[in-house]
Amino acid sequence: MVEDQTQNERLLRLLHLAQTAAEHAYAPYSRFRVGSALELDNGEIVTGTNVENVSFGLTICAERSALSTAVSRFGPGIRIVAAAITNLNDSPSPPCGACRQVLAEFILPDAPVIFPAAGGLRTLTFQELLPCSGDMQLK
Ligand code: ZN
Repeated sequence: MVEDQTQNERLLRLLHLAQTAAEHAYAPYSRFRVGSALELDNGEIVTGTNVENVSFGLTICAERSALSTAVSRFGPGIRIVAAAITNLNDSPSPPCGACRQVLAEFILPDAPVIFPAAGGLRTLTFQELLPCSGDMQLK
């Protein structure tokens, strides 16, 4: 119970940081402003936001933006122990398939991932978000 409460507080703090990051979104085309916060195994937290492009296909999501920052700042040995994704549009924003694939390189299978879903906030482990990612690595 105490552990659950601690984890909930931790995830809500991450969610707040993700919300703050979303304020920096570059989303002139969709107006969908997304933020992400990743807690790393070294205790650091990095954030990212979506950066759109007129081509749409070259748009980078908040999760991949945060992950690039994490690797740039702390190197390729980092591991993600928790993640939060949110937006300023009061809409569901689970990580897209591309972000799940990219996060799989660095996130622990049991890392909690919190995000707004159709019925409200939802928390799943990464393994639940991307089943079989641990035993179907491409590398
Ligand atoms: Zn994405």
